[in-house]
Amino acid sequence: MTPTITLAKGDITRESADAIVNAANSSLLGGGGVDGAIHRRGGPAILEECRKLRASQYGKGLPTGQAVATTAGELDARWVIHTVGPVWQVGGGDASLLASCYRESLRVADELGARTVAFPAISTGVYRWPMDDAARIAVETALNTPTDVEEVRFVLFDDRAYEAFATRLG
Ligand code: ADP
Repeated sequence: MTPTITLAKGDITRESADAIVNAANSSLLGGGGVDGAIHRRGGPAILEECRKLRASQYGKGLPTGQAVATTAGELDARWVIHTVGPVWQVGGGDASLLASCYRESLRVADELGARTVAFPAISTGVYRWPMDDAARIAVETALNTPTDVEEVRFVLFDDRAYEAFATRLG
């Protein structure tokens, strides 16, 4: 099935959804931006599970483009799905890895049985991916990934991000 795509503006930690996606870094131990906000509002249970993941199957951290779920702690969601976006380098970035973040997050969501999934604009903060290109990759990948997820909600932090995604959705 193809999910319905919806857009929201604001803070992703205020959303209610089955799963909220975190633009994590590979350490899984917290950071700035979305990551910091999720750990702040979600409480210590999320970090505790992230630490366990580091102590078990992700000893070297979560590789770029992959995704893994934890509890959502005190967020209004059942799970947080952590994924690591690629960094935009001078001259470009690996678009297949950014697409992989969305695809792998949806795969994990399917494994969990999540039907509504809220995504931030992965890689567009400290990882510097240009918003228009990130929006294109996010929307195309969500529309082209077979999934049982019924709603993919992109939660955009500001007007510029919202407009980029709205333009892409036509
Ligand atoms: P990355 O390291 O993948 O670039 P960031 O968290 O730095 O991740 O930024 C990703 C995007 O999320 C940016 O567009 C940023 O403006 C936005 N953002 C930051 N905080 C929040 C939040 N609380 N809710 C939704 N989006 C946010």
